[in-house]
Amino acid sequence: MAKPDSRISLAEVARQTGTMLRRGDSAHYRDGLPPSLADLTESLFFSPGDGRIWLNDQRMLLWHSSAMGHLRRELIDTLGVDRARGLLTRAGYVSGARDAQLVRERWPNGDAASVFMAGTRLHALEGVVKVTPLAFDFDIDRGTYEGEFLWEHSSEDDEHIVAYGIGTEAACWSQVGYATGYVTSLFGQLVVFREVECRSMGAGVCRVIGRHAAAWGDVDEDLRYLQARDFRSLAEAPASRTALTAPALEPTPEVSGARHEIVGASSAFNSACHQLDRVARTQATVLFTGESGVGKEAFARRLHRISARADKPFIAVNCAAIPETLIESELFGVERGAYTGASSSRPGRFERADGGTLFLDEVGTLSLPGQGKLLRALQEGEVERVGGTRTLKVDVRVVAATNVDLQGEVRAGRFREDLFYRLNVYPIHLPPLRERRDDVPLLMNHFLRRESQRHDRRPTGFTARAVRAMLHYGFPGNIRELQNLIERGVISAEDGAPIDVAHMFRREQLSPETLLAIGAQGTLTADATPPPGRLLALLQQADAKGLSLPAIEHRLLREAVDAADGNLSAAARQLGITRAQLAYRLQRAEAAPRRRRGR
Ligand code: ZN
Repeated sequence: MAKPDSRISLAEVARQTGTMLRRGDSAHYRDGLPPSLADLTESLFFSPGDGRIWLNDQRMLLWHSSAMGHLRRELIDTLGVDRARGLLTRAGYVSGARDAQLVRERWPNGDAASVFMAGTRLHALEGVVKVTPLAFDFDIDRGTYEGEFLWEHSSEDDEHIVAYGIGTEAACWSQVGYATGYVTSLFGQLVVFREVECRSMGAGVCRVIGRHAAAWGDVDEDLRYLQARDFRSLAEAPASRTALTAPALEPTPEVSGARHEIVGASSAFNSACHQLDRVARTQATVLFTGESGVGKEAFARRLHRISARADKPFIAVNCAAIPETLIESELFGVERGAYTGASSSRPGRFERADGGTLFLDEVGTLSLPGQGKLLRALQEGEVERVGGTRTLKVDVRVVAATNVDLQGEVRAGRFREDLFYRLNVYPIHLPPLRERRDDVPLLMNHFLRRESQRHDRRPTGFTARAVRAMLHYGFPGNIRELQNLIERGVISAEDGAPIDVAHMFRREQLSPETLLAIGAQGTLTADATPPPGRLLALLQQADAKGLSLPAIEHRLLREAVDAADGNLSAAARQLGITRAQLAYRLQRAEAAPRRRRGR
């Protein structure tokens, strides 16, 4: 990743903020339009069993205000007021920018003034401060912003006053940073907030004024605490990382190439990537271990792509998918007449991968004779076609993968120990998705974009309930399963509407814990509105969207097939028709849209 430029680039900020907000003011502000306080509260959910709290897709912390006060005091005492103030202002800025991003992505078409007000509500929801707007007026096209607010119950003042008493300077530094971060990120122009009265100066409540940087005139001192470079790094980093909606869906080039992209930011994922980057440049044999569906082939492809062999072939073989009798000829090639049916000579995968990388997936399923030949190829760099007499030199880097414990297979006598040590030169363990849960939102976004494009659909993103369900789900099938869920959601949801739980999951996949949310009273409750029954949901949609009878029938058939895990006979029984009737109706329904789209 490129080192962030140390200069402010407001163009960068503007670039990612899009054009959602144009103008608004407090005189025309109407309470209750989305995102309302209830909408925002619904985005906060607790996962008490696994140590996580989320605000939409952002992980949050609930910790003691006094602990924050303690940290704040230590910062001031060790670094001095000025540097401590800078650190806290910038941390606040990050928080505000993140919240702006959340609002922008969840409510891309929200009422401008309500989107703006959401920042004050999130600040309150997060327990920091109660915000009351006195007046605000903004027009992004004219580049004007003017706002005045009262801050009550400022947590930062509470802590500051406990530690230092009443003084002569305002003390709500991180809160000022938050307001600056939220509004600047939302509007794409530098809007600077100043606290003109503060409880730490003896005022009853704090009063803050926000103004376009140009209107303030001299903002050097404000910028000193914000330390310019933070704008740029904030503007760039989170955009690609946490987007939960699919805003523009502009066609990205080479969708097929993107099929093997690896996506993540969790520490478990980073650690695997770090190992991969280290070993890629060498010639070492790499062994990927991990459960099915964790993306071993995607990692192998990346390894090849960043290695010195990148311009040579990458050949993948799934050893489990090839019958035992054919695996040798597949890997090493065959000479004409070697056996009945071998009517011509052809090269094996080793030969085809010459100069490049050979990826052997599920290597643990190779037969013992196959293992012997593989070992020789690895040791000697030579292969011999089945039925052949010549030995052929090959220069192949072997990358293997297994989802079984190869050492256990060695102990059980099913895997050659010498081959195990040949393959296990540089093992990389890929963690299951449940151990890198922080990546779930990134993957959701990644697959939402990809599948929407692939299926030519336009869902707007995910409902809060759907995000919650995904964050709680165990993903026994790992990334592949997540991808399937999103694909199903993209196909099932209506264009222009978000993907909901019922579009992705069958009820029995979800635990009751999934639906723990924060209720209107501010306490943890089970979700008050569980996903509607599928048929009911279908009928409601039909009512609302004017779905045609064939479309409803098709959805009903698909629901039944999904509920029966793809078993057509069972689904047909549920529907009270024969299997043949079901198959015919499905085929008819699914052929029609394809014909219309000319595919
Ligand atoms: Zn204050």
